[in-house]
Amino acid sequence: MKAHDGMYIDGAWRPAAGRDVIEVVNPADERVIGTVPAGTAEDVDAAVRAARAALPGWSATPPAERAARLAALRDALAAREEEIAETVTAELGSPLAFSRTVHAGMPIAVAGFYAGLAATYVFEEKVGNSTVYHEPVGVVGAITPWNYPLHQIVAKTAPALAAGCTVVLKPAEDTPLTARLFAGAVDEAGLPAGVFNLVTGVGPVAGQALAEHPDVDLVSFTGSTAVGRRIGAIAGAAVKKVALELGGKSANVILPGADLARAVNVGVANVMSNSGQTCSAWTRMLVHRDQYDEAVALAATAAAKYGERIGPVVNAKQRARVRDYIEKGVAEGARLVAGGPGSPRERGYFVSPTVLADVTPEMTVAQEEIFGPVLSILRYDDEEDALRIANGTVYGLAGAVWAGDEAEAVAFARRLDTGQVDINGGRFNPLAPFGGYKQSGVGRELGTHGLTEYLQTKSLQF
Ligand code: NAD
Repeated sequence: MKAHDGMYIDGAWRPAAGRDVIEVVNPADERVIGTVPAGTAEDVDAAVRAARAALPGWSATPPAERAARLAALRDALAAREEEIAETVTAELGSPLAFSRTVHAGMPIAVAGFYAGLAATYVFEEKVGNSTVYHEPVGVVGAITPWNYPLHQIVAKTAPALAAGCTVVLKPAEDTPLTARLFAGAVDEAGLPAGVFNLVTGVGPVAGQALAEHPDVDLVSFTGSTAVGRRIGAIAGAAVKKVALELGGKSANVILPGADLARAVNVGVANVMSNSGQTCSAWTRMLVHRDQYDEAVALAATAAAKYGERIGPVVNAKQRARVRDYIEKGVAEGARLVAGGPGSPRERGYFVSPTVLADVTPEMTVAQEEIFGPVLSILRYDDEEDALRIANGTVYGLAGAVWAGDEAEAVAFARRLDTGQVDINGGRFNPLAPFGGYKQSGVGRELGTHGLTEYLQTKSLQF
């Protein structure tokens, strides 16, 4: 157990304004592994002031120099790669191998990408008799969730810094230790004081203070739709820019000509990865009625294999929530073919990899985001039926289509109301824009689109 002190504000670790702390718990064994200060509105205000004061200097820094600082940040993160992986495993519970490749490796690569993009992006262009300047939006308030602790931080901070914005980060209360490692890397990378600031704290206090702060120009939030809606309302009232990356209920559509075994196995792996705590997870598998029983049997076998390999969910509240959903699914008529609501282990917030069959589109488990290792399998009659079901939720973040040939899969994918679709097992691409249609959010992260979120245009006419 380690008591971590201070907030990273204006280029140094400074004492928190209040005395309250947040206990960080290892979800695999329920032990408290550390504490961090619980920030107040006062800490947030100090951080926003520092970010505001640093803005003129950083926004006027030549892009090549910003790129050099971002490259140094990437290197500082890479030097901490193993520590990052171990820290994510300790506070989130994900298996170490997954923490290494996904939780540490991917955001380091994304940081490197933005270092490159900052150096090459065209911040000025000619349009007719105008010169259009792409200028930084200003001070960014970034509020991140716990499910991919470092990825969510880098996906906001790296493009914001590349654009010339300054940042105040309020990370999730469950995973603040990874955020502190990130701040340490920023410090080592030699970014000017105030360009990046960290305030740990709980959402309704520090998070809300950041979203409401009049000197924050853009709020970028990832998390639940309920909180996202509030942040959108706060930003709307203040005519402040806002980016929201919210929940999902993505469909994995398996068309009749597809390689069924592969589509089902990859689909199950997609849901169970990170214990189901992925906003883009394909939590609804849609299978033609003629192949339904075979798909259910394959999915049940695949899920059973994850029994020993899956980590816990993040905390007791999340475990209770996931169990409630499983019970609700069964109560509404779904058939449990793998896993279930019981505890697979004595200690730790574990949930068995669960598969629900005979799920129909109106059931709660087919409509609401569960955020746990739970797959619902739905039956469709024909392609139009599959499309209706796939598009029949309030969400539209991701999805998958499997078909006998690529053109057929692409034609179907083009009709899905969703921000991303993986075709026949296409791999996640951190350079592709990521974000939601419908209530899955506003704005895009990652790649060049992720950078433009942090820019505003000014046109000069000649
Ligand atoms: P949350 O929305 O409560 O928390 C996300 C972030 O927002 C955290 O940093 C939190 O401190 C902050 N926050 C909370 N209340 C706030 C407020 N009033 N003002 C400002 N900031 C506030 O999400 P959660 O409780 O961590 O998870 C709940 C559910 O959210 C999950 O079960 C899942 O459905 C969804 N979720 C989605 C994603 C995603 O990537 N889209 C990530 C995590 C959670």
